[in-house]
Amino acid sequence: MAEQNISPEQLKALQEKIKQMSPEELKEFQKKQCIFCQIIAGKVQSKKIYEDEKVLAILDINPANPGHVLLMTKEHYSIMPQIPDEDISHVFMAAKSLSNSMLRSIDAQGTNIIVANGIAAGQRAQHFMAHVIPRKEKDGVDFVLPQKAMEQQEIESIGNKLVAALGGAVEKEDAKAQIPVPKKEEPKKEGKGINLDDISKLLGAK
Ligand SMILES: [Zn+2]
Repeated sequence: MAEQNISPEQLKALQEKIKQMSPEELKEFQKKQCIFCQIIAGKVQSKKIYEDEKVLAILDINPANPGHVLLMTKEHYSIMPQIPDEDISHVFMAAKSLSNSMLRSIDAQGTNIIVANGIAAGQRAQHFMAHVIPRKEKDGVDFVLPQKAMEQQEIESIGNKLVAALGGAVEKEDAKAQIPVPKKEEPKKEGKGINLDDISKLLGAK
């Protein structure tokens, strides 16, 4: 892809323009900067595996294993708390179908379905996606989770906090969850969400 160079003056002008944008205009701007939205719009080429009104699944061009699929919402969401329940349900139903197709068609012996939700969790794309990865024994893909020791008291305490936060049921709306995302899109004091640093990153300027 062509790199876009931008002078500090142009960047400042752009930042001013962004501050004037309505939430709708800002969303359009974010979509234009998002490579995955470009793929969804058909402006960037990809190997499509599955598509319906809510999701698109494509092959990862640098897969963990051959057949590694990126399953994304067609709507631009950064993180899971932003996604309506109906849509997130749809994402995981599609993940199940993709996983089944891998078991049937490319001799996968298992699959991993992974969502990185927030920077601390290793999220790199600014567009929400689930990775569906076909697995075989000794395929060199290692997700080794540490097994930390915990006192019974700590287990009780953490468990109780989670139970209290859930209120005994799965919440309808959990938008209050504050998760740091790759591109900061929450509104700031003055502008409508993107700071100078973000724009510079979005446009590939150093
Ligand atoms: Zn996007």
